[in-house]
Amino acid sequence: MKILVINAGSSSLKYQLIDMEGEQVVAKGLCERIGIDGRFTHKTGDGRVVQKDVAMPDHTTAFEQVKQALVSGEGKVVNDLSEVAAIGHRVVQGGAKYDKSVRIDEDVLKAVREYEVLAPLHNPACLKGIEAATAAFGTEIPQVAVFDTAFHQTMPEVAYLWGLPYECYEKYGVRRYGYHGTSHRFVSKRCFELLGKPDGKGTRIITCHLGNGSSLAAIRDGKVIDTTMGLTPLDGFLMGTRSGAIDPSAVTFIMEKEGLSPEEMDNLMNKKSGMLGISGVSSDDRDITAAMDAGNARAKLAWDMRSYQILKYIGGYVAALGGLDAIVFTAGIGENQDRLRAELLEGLAYLGVKLDAEANNVRGQEREITTADSAVRAFIIPTNEELVIARDTKALI
Ligand code: AMP
Repeated sequence: MKILVINAGSSSLKYQLIDMEGEQVVAKGLCERIGIDGRFTHKTGDGRVVQKDVAMPDHTTAFEQVKQALVSGEGKVVNDLSEVAAIGHRVVQGGAKYDKSVRIDEDVLKAVREYEVLAPLHNPACLKGIEAATAAFGTEIPQVAVFDTAFHQTMPEVAYLWGLPYECYEKYGVRRYGYHGTSHRFVSKRCFELLGKPDGKGTRIITCHLGNGSSLAAIRDGKVIDTTMGLTPLDGFLMGTRSGAIDPSAVTFIMEKEGLSPEEMDNLMNKKSGMLGISGVSSDDRDITAAMDAGNARAKLAWDMRSYQILKYIGGYVAALGGLDAIVFTAGIGENQDRLRAELLEGLAYLGVKLDAEANNVRGQEREITTADSAVRAFIIPTNEELVIARDTKALI
């Protein structure tokens, strides 16, 4: 059975065709600059690459490219589209309604549309992806929505509510939802296996998804009890271009001083802040470390601020969890940035964490990076959100 996994952004569409027999990637690719000029890249599991500049005015035309690439030309991987059994979509915001993945029907589409107010940058793109898939594959093919927010729905009220008038929650659903849930779910499940407790019962772990966007999740007995991202993916600690948590009064203060509209302020906090905003160098960790090594003080400041903030969250989560059995690093930075992992684990020495410096000298591989006598175990676990989406889709059809 082959499943097509779709991750649609506002101007991009990523896809993977996964053969569930052996869970192999048959083909994957990316439509970029949709609505601008259009660039299409398609790679097959056996190493063929198709790349072209092609006009893709909208997601539907982008999807046509995907469809054609799968069944014809240099990158052909299936004889007929009917070999694609189902389509699984990454949907960013599923609100409080969805604590697991669902088959897409009219009710689900309506809910995803309603949640656009909570994720105005993301949910409209997810809907476009679903509409484009339907236009390309017809209405008969089963489609599944896998929500970024679903895994965090086990959080208790004390963790997901903020001290605003209760009506803000009742009227508008203003609360912490959390994101990257599919990744936290995947790596936590694997961590439980590595701990010898596959259902997670009796474990207290913290999963650190550190990428361009970053979040932590505190997980007890297999269930999320807290996470750093909030109503939107802006909350938490310094990310590539996002500020993370700040005093909310700073928002209105800056808006007044600079005469910014809500949209402009949103842009400042989401696109111009974080590692980029503090360093003035880049949002990319590789550029930050290069600048730090060349003596750039603000790049070093951005790096140190992020480490400090992550360590504060971890400390808070250890208190919330009542102890800690394991910590997991994943995503672009978590899997590759040995320096950050070392610094964070050394900062947790007070918990009896003992880094295995030699084991930590690795990139993008699953590995335990603490010594045998460490009081808390730490692992690198490469994430695979597409595989979770494909597995959920298979299970639901
Ligand atoms: P993601 O959003 O998960 O794709 O992660 C992107 C981030 O991972 C960027 O800040 C990259 O600089 C960082 N990253 C990717 N590969 C490496 C690497 N080999 N060494 C250090 N950082 C990396």
